[in-house]
Amino acid sequence: MSPTRTLQDYDLDALRERVLPERAGTRADSIPQLAEADPDLFGIALALPDGSVRSSGDGRAPFSIQSAVKPFLFALALADIDGAALDRVGIEPTGEAFDAIKLESDTGRPPNPMVNAGAILTCALVHGNDPEARAERIRDGLSRFAGRALSVDEDVAHSEHLLGDRNHALAHLMRAEGTLDDSADDAVAVYARACAVVVDVETLAVMGATLAFGGVNPLTGERVVASEIARDVVAVMATCGVYDGSGRWMRAVGVPAKSSVSGAIVLSAPGTAGAAIVSPPLDEQGTSVRGRIAAEALSADLGLHVFG
Ligand code: GLU
Repeated sequence: MSPTRTLQDYDLDALRERVLPERAGTRADSIPQLAEADPDLFGIALALPDGSVRSSGDGRAPFSIQSAVKPFLFALALADIDGAALDRVGIEPTGEAFDAIKLESDTGRPPNPMVNAGAILTCALVHGNDPEARAERIRDGLSRFAGRALSVDEDVAHSEHLLGDRNHALAHLMRAEGTLDDSADDAVAVYARACAVVVDVETLAVMGATLAFGGVNPLTGERVVASEIARDVVAVMATCGVYDGSGRWMRAVGVPAKSSVSGAIVLSAPGTAGAAIVSPPLDEQGTSVRGRIAAEALSADLGLHVFG
């Protein structure tokens, strides 16, 4: 029997139990809300093509989406300004940290949309005449990926904006290079709001599934983005989604994914499933320790490795 046939009745509770003893990692400390996150928060969710969503543990506990938002920001930028977004941001992995102060040396573009520079730029590329309109377009677009209305945690957005010194530096550098048209402060403000959108693992699994199923949300049936856009986004998740740990991730887990400092990971297994895991303690590359272990086991158990 093919392992993927067990997707419907896969025992997520048993997977969670297996990973529970792992206690390594440290929480992000970039903003107080992440430093004070519950280290025991641990949820795993799976979203399937028939619209069913299952979870184990903290399936509905809220957390800020942080960098797990980046694939969806890239998708919205591609949708709003079509192929032009691909002229404005690179798609090559960096081998460096998510907030490295570095742009492409020959073009001044951000290296890819999965690092902070790229996400700050994709936020500035979505439609909207002013920062408020762009932030609202992003909140609305993310809600379509999720299949429910999402909101912003204003305290997290405020902290991200106030304390994101490296993000301000990146925005100023992109202004200096002529790659960012917005004011640096407006661009960081919109990015801060995008990172502060509140989700849970069930919701994030549906968002991952929408990309995995060619841009169609399996809950609502809505086409959120064109299939070519979903394909491009998932491809870039595969090569750049886990920052300087992307190679190791693709070898071991083999499912395109995006990590984040809230300890959330969103996974898109093309044509098969969306999944999400949250557990705040992180490794050196900013990936959830339990999230990585759970993802590797999930992929092995269900035969999700794209090269498997
Ligand atoms: N909001 C975080 C930052 O800009 C996102 C980083 C991440 O989740 O990896 O620093």
